[in-house]
Amino acid sequence: MDFHQSLLSSLNDQSQLRTLIDLIPEFIVLKDGDGRWLVCNKLVMDMYGLELEDYLYHTDLEIAAYRPHYTTLFEYNYKTDEQAWEKGSPLLVEKSFVAPDGIHRTWEVMKTPIFDEYGDRHRLVIVSRDVTERKRAEEALLASQEQYRLIAENMSDVITMMTPERKLQYVSPSLETMLGYSPEEFREMERFSLLHPDDVEHFMDAFEQTLANHAVGFKDECRYQHAEGHYLWFEMNMTYVVRSGSDTDYILIVSRNIMERKNHEQQLRSLAYMDPLTGVPNRRYLMNQMTQDMQTAIDNDTLLGVLYLDIDRFKEVNDTLGHDAGDELLVQMVKRISGELGPLDTIARIGGDEFVIILPLITTHKRISEIAERICSHLQHPWNLQSQSVITGSSIGVSVYPHDGIEAEQLLNYADQALYTAKRRGRSQVCFYKEHE
Ligand code: GH3
Ligand code: MG
Repeated sequence: MDFHQSLLSSLNDQSQLRTLIDLIPEFIVLKDGDGRWLVCNKLVMDMYGLELEDYLYHTDLEIAAYRPHYTTLFEYNYKTDEQAWEKGSPLLVEKSFVAPDGIHRTWEVMKTPIFDEYGDRHRLVIVSRDVTERKRAEEALLASQEQYRLIAENMSDVITMMTPERKLQYVSPSLETMLGYSPEEFREMERFSLLHPDDVEHFMDAFEQTLANHAVGFKDECRYQHAEGHYLWFEMNMTYVVRSGSDTDYILIVSRNIMERKNHEQQLRSLAYMDPLTGVPNRRYLMNQMTQDMQTAIDNDTLLGVLYLDIDRFKEVNDTLGHDAGDELLVQMVKRISGELGPLDTIARIGGDEFVIILPLITTHKRISEIAERICSHLQHPWNLQSQSVITGSSIGVSVYPHDGIEAEQLLNYADQALYTAKRRGRSQVCFYKEHE
């Protein structure tokens, strides 16, 4: 029995030492300078299903011969053993294969070569640790981080994370597509400087309330300025996020672009106040405008003229040329009248072929009369409808604020009465509710 063998048998026999290495929850193999197995613990024996006589004094390639399942693995062992010997110092490698329990396992393997006093290979100590769970957790974490990164980069919402001290922790790359600033540029900017000046106060209120109440999903609307200068509406959703341990809490702000909704609301608002055919205000708008204009007249001590206009024999246009031609006439009429009006005047369509014109800030009845006559005469010029020249006039009834009345409805009513008189007197003319010098 040479020195090695005696050492081995004493090692394997020494039950205390044996018990000790069997208790270590790591895979331990000791090989000699030629790669022959000298000692391994129970974990290794159980893993490969080896008995003492199967491994003792055998190399990995020899063991592989009767463990053909693990040929690749034992060849890998041999190859990395050689790398450790060549390196001459501890070598850390990662080993990954399907273990006998059918699970794909990963080991972190430390191979420490020991040389004798002549510099020859003496012992190789191999300690392997099963890092499958850790690897899996790392991979899962990486995968979820990757998923979050992908989501953050591709969504249209802008996500910001702020510390309670209002320091920016994170802003999603979607900021660039939504507001034209890169996250790096944004970091350099003064906090909240993108907010519309009128929205700063309620944004700060929302922030403080979220902070104070540890609020979840606090919603508000605000405008952020795009790099190109214009403002965009966002709905922001603030949530206080409590972190565990030494991590500081933060406020998560998810800002969603709601321009489409805002535009839609704006359109609906306009529709409620606008005549869809001609694009001018409707009766509802007119009544508001009249009230405002009457106040302006009071403030400036001026008059306000209300012209009630109705197309003469409009039904005939519809009947002879068709409803579309009638519509076209209404549109052309608005254009022709608008050409006669000043910037403060208003024209509104309040019925089928009925229009009201408000003339504010006028000082004399004469001036109102001049404008009304001019409009009336212009409307008697031929119209070009469906390549045909059509002649039709309009009648106009006039009331004047404050002489005829001081209520909008009343003034409108009087102007309508004057219109009736104009129709009765033969149409295509202007009639005042009350004649004045
Ligand atoms: P008058 O001189 O007395 O005003 O006679 P008129 O034919 O103009 O009759 P009136 O003003 O009483 O009626 C207006 C007509 O306008 C009634 C309706 O057929 C027509 N009308 C109402 N709304 C529209 C519309 O949106 N488009 C078209 N093409 N016609 C309309
Ligand atoms: Mg009419």
